[in-house]
Amino acid sequence: MSALRDLALGLDQDEVGSRMFAFVEELFPICRSITGDGIRETLRRIAERIPLEIREVPTGTAVFDWTVPKEWNITEAYIEDPTGHRVVDFADHNIHVVGYSAPVDAKMPLSELRKHIYTLPDQPELIPYRTSYYSETWGFCMAHERFHQLRDGDYAVRIDSSLEPGNLTYGELVLPGETEAEVLISCHCCHPSLANDNLSGIALSMQLAQHLMSARLRYTYRFLFIPGTIGSITWLALNEERAGRIEHGVVVTCVGDPGHPTYKRSRRGDATIDRAAAHVLKHSGRPYRIVDFSPYGYDERQYCSPGFDLAVGSLTRTPHGEYPEYHTSGDDLDLVRPACLADSLSLYLQVLDVLENDGVYRNLSPKGEPQLGKRGLYPPMGAGGVGSELMGMLWMLNLSDGRHSLLDIAERAEVPFASVRDAATRLVAAGLLAEAEGN
Ligand code: ZN
Repeated sequence: MSALRDLALGLDQDEVGSRMFAFVEELFPICRSITGDGIRETLRRIAERIPLEIREVPTGTAVFDWTVPKEWNITEAYIEDPTGHRVVDFADHNIHVVGYSAPVDAKMPLSELRKHIYTLPDQPELIPYRTSYYSETWGFCMAHERFHQLRDGDYAVRIDSSLEPGNLTYGELVLPGETEAEVLISCHCCHPSLANDNLSGIALSMQLAQHLMSARLRYTYRFLFIPGTIGSITWLALNEERAGRIEHGVVVTCVGDPGHPTYKRSRRGDATIDRAAAHVLKHSGRPYRIVDFSPYGYDERQYCSPGFDLAVGSLTRTPHGEYPEYHTSGDDLDLVRPACLADSLSLYLQVLDVLENDGVYRNLSPKGEPQLGKRGLYPPMGAGGVGSELMGMLWMLNLSDGRHSLLDIAERAEVPFASVRDAATRLVAAGLLAEAEGN
């Protein structure tokens, strides 16, 4: 049995939280998009820490109903007011430019320019994050309070970008386990300087991979570091056969903010991953939320498309769109906390621990309760009440008829998974329980 729960409990939260946060800080300045040198550089930095395979898929490759787009790169972009003063500069913040903007070099009156400027009137101090991947245009994003100050006149506009045939780049790491059945850990890497939506998921996935690399694993783990939507569609299109091996999966993002944990169920709703996540959260002793699947959000939309219907959920803290800084310049390094990253990592390890250790057992002495006392398994007299250790063993013996898994039993007994797992270990050692055939 692999002991990811022990790993979770033994984490030096300060150390591991600081380590993940330092990686978020390192990646923050890079201008990422769904293709281009920003995502390449990000993957290269991940590959310095885990043995990531970096894949390049050429522009024009047909992937189901989509086509791998042209590659986008950008070096410079600004708007100069009539006096030659730069009022918007890509060098100050990379979300100032609409992602995938076509190149432009022009002079135009403010009345014309404003059609290409995006602001947030309700959050006037924040810069919005906007993209236009699949219809060619250009644009700038800026704080509404600064936009308001622009005076009439002719503005110089320049975006030094390129949209050319190239590649879509993604990273993949497979950690082989005892079986070929897989657990998918997927995160998107396509957002520029946004910390919680994007970088927190990258840092947690990287750290999780480092921990799993030194663990004994039952499942094979597949980590994908991909551009959102087009990346998961591309992977699924190129790996249609392999996708069938994925038994459980989680989409990782928004795991660094101080909000409570939220688990979004897979399309199936009652998959083992859905139950394992709900179980861990229920016994975590703090507020949490479980939300049903909806065909919006992150790459779970693709993994849970009806042609695949994979058991992939998403474990986040505050979900996308529900925190005010979402998709704005407010999603910065102040929003992400080392302690929250560490706490999220611990939850991930506990959920994976359930998947790794779940199994079906058979009571070898099913006629009447076996006599626990003569085996030293019954608590001494006068202990008062029935302890959780004893209840764990009684439930284990009662429901281990070859049909109920440890998770089934933990749910029905309303005890933490670790209690029934520990009970199983003791009962197997006492010769009262055996793992069911074909398990
Ligand atoms: Zn996003």
